[in-house]
Formats: sequence, structure tokens, C-alpha cells
Amino acid sequence: MKLSFSVSFRVDKMNCLKCVHKSVMELQHGSLCRSHFISYVEEKVFHTIKKYNLIAREDVLCVAASGGKDSLTVLYLTKKYLEKNKMDNPLSALAIDEGIHDYREKTLVDLDKFCAEHRIPLTIVKTTAEFSYTLDDAYPIVNKGTKKKPCNVCGVWRRYLLNKHARKLGATKVITGHNLDDEAQAVIMNIFKANTGLAAHLGPISGVEEQELFVQRVKPLYFCTEKETRLYALLQKFQVEFAECPYANEGFRAQIRDMLNDFEAKYKGTKQGIINSFLAMLPLLKEQARKQDTQVNICAECGEPAQGRICHACQIRKVLP
Ligand code: SF4
Ligand SMILES: [Zn+2]
Ligand SMILES: [Zn+2]
Repeated sequence: MKLSFSVSFRVDKMNCLKCVHKSVMELQHGSLCRSHFISYVEEKVFHTIKKYNLIAREDVLCVAASGGKDSLTVLYLTKKYLEKNKMDNPLSALAIDEGIHDYREKTLVDLDKFCAEHRIPLTIVKTTAEFSYTLDDAYPIVNKGTKKKPCNVCGVWRRYLLNKHARKLGATKVITGHNLDDEAQAVIMNIFKANTGLAAHLGPISGVEEQELFVQRVKPLYFCTEKETRLYALLQKFQVEFAECPYANEGFRAQIRDMLNDFEAKYKGTKQGIINSFLAMLPLLKEQARKQDTQVNICAECGEPAQGRICHACQIRKVLP
């Protein structure tokens, strides 16, 4: 079901901090009207791209897109950034179809329309083509053998296929729609699980150092909250299916997400605080990770990059009949 334009956000009775119009969102330092809110998000995203050098003139860009609000927003803003800066980098979208029934097929329709409208080439890769299974079919089998949750399987497959096919497309950067909420969840998950090695791979640019077989992943929406991205997509009238993945409430991340949302409701600025603290520590984490043995192997089964002898995707393949 598509939500109508005004469902999720009340229009504040207050006026915009910068003009006489009614505000659409209250931020930490005041409220903004529609047009000032749009400018605020765009300036924040463009500043992030510049500050962290996420896009260079010579980059071949591939946006990891799903058709959700984050991916359409990042796709739109990447194109806008290139146009604004008179950059002619090749730009395409790459989507992974995990075969999540009654969800993914709908978001991919939106993505296809959006890409056609904005003249962005789109490649869709199905998990069935690489792994012979949809997530819906594979997950119960993998869960029996390994106790992995759907998001674990989905995450491994998505990272594997995005990297492999972005490389095939000649991309030098994969642009993702990860927002501040996603990152704050990932930081806390890694802290709770004492995964400082994995935490070192977070940040506006993923990874510790450049690796030949890994296409670097960058996150222009890094400082935009989930709420801001959602409102931006609504105000821009992107055709977005605001349906939720049926697996979104399963697993560890969902609990961390709910916990952080509770905290944010009680203590405004909690998520931003997590990100600020994390960014202050990130150089040290990266330095530490560089000193440790971070050598990337080639998977003995498929030839893709792997941490151990066999990559995570091939470990899942082994559990499937
Ligand atoms: S919620 Fe989990 S299963 Fe659904 S698309 Fe996201 S990672 Fe995949
Ligand atoms: Zn205004
Ligand atoms: Zn492999």
C-alpha cells in the first residue's frame, strides 16, 4: 500500500526558523518549512560528499539501489551533486533481487520507474541466478543448519553480489543509502558483540584500506536520520513503497533499532551522539585494524574475496542442498 503524501509527518504549528512558512519538521535547533528542509538535507549530503571525498572526478559510480526511500534519495542526490558540480562521472544503479515475496518485487517496480524517469541505467541481479535460491526458500534451510537469521543471509548475499557485479560494471565506488540510524545501529551492534575489528570497517567510507577485489562503499546519507530521509522522499514525491521487509523485525539489529528509538524519544540527539563519539574513535580503530593481519584471501570455492579460506556466501552455499 502506498502512503499518501502527508501521512507520516505532522505539519508543525510553528513557523520555519528561516522564513514565514509553516514548518514540516522540528530539528534539534528549530523547525524548517518544506523548501528550507529540502535545502538543509541537500546541503548536508553534499557537504558529507565533499568533506570525506566520497566522489572523485575519475570515479565510475554505481548506486546500490533497492527502490526504498534511502536508495531513491541517494540516487537522486548523487545525480544532483554531479550536475551541480558539472561532473560527468558514469552513474548507474545496481539492485539485488533476493526474492522476498510481496516486498522486493514492489520496490523494484518503483526503482525501475525512477531510473527510467531520471535516465539512469539499472542492472538487477537475482540471487536465484547466483545461488539458485530466493531468500524466502533458502532462509528456513540455512536457519536449521546454522541458526542464521534472514538478515544475516540477506546481508552476506547482498554484499557478495553488489561487490561482484559492481566490479563487473567497472565501478570504482559503490554508493549506498545507509543513513545515521543504520550506522548508529551498526556501531552499537559491534560494541555489544565486541567486534572492534568490524567496527573499523564502518564510517562514511567502508573498509580499512583499499583492496583490489573490493569496490569501496561510500555513504552520502551518513549524517541524515531515518526520519529526515523519509520526509525528504515524501516531500520530493518519490514513488516509494513504504512497506517494510517482512523480516525487518527479526534478529539482533531489530532489537538494537527499537532500543535506540526508545532512547532517542527520551533523550533527543542520542543517535547523533553515538555517531560523533564513534567518528572520534574511528581513526584509532582503523589504525589498530591496519596493524593486525587484515590480509584478504581469495575464496577457494568461488574466487571472490574472503576473510578465511572460504567466503561467507560459499559457506551458506554448503548448507543448501
Ligand atoms: S530487513 Fe533483512 S531480510 Fe529484509 S531486506 Fe533488509 S537485510 Fe534483507
Ligand atoms: Zn522556510
Ligand atoms: Zn566463495
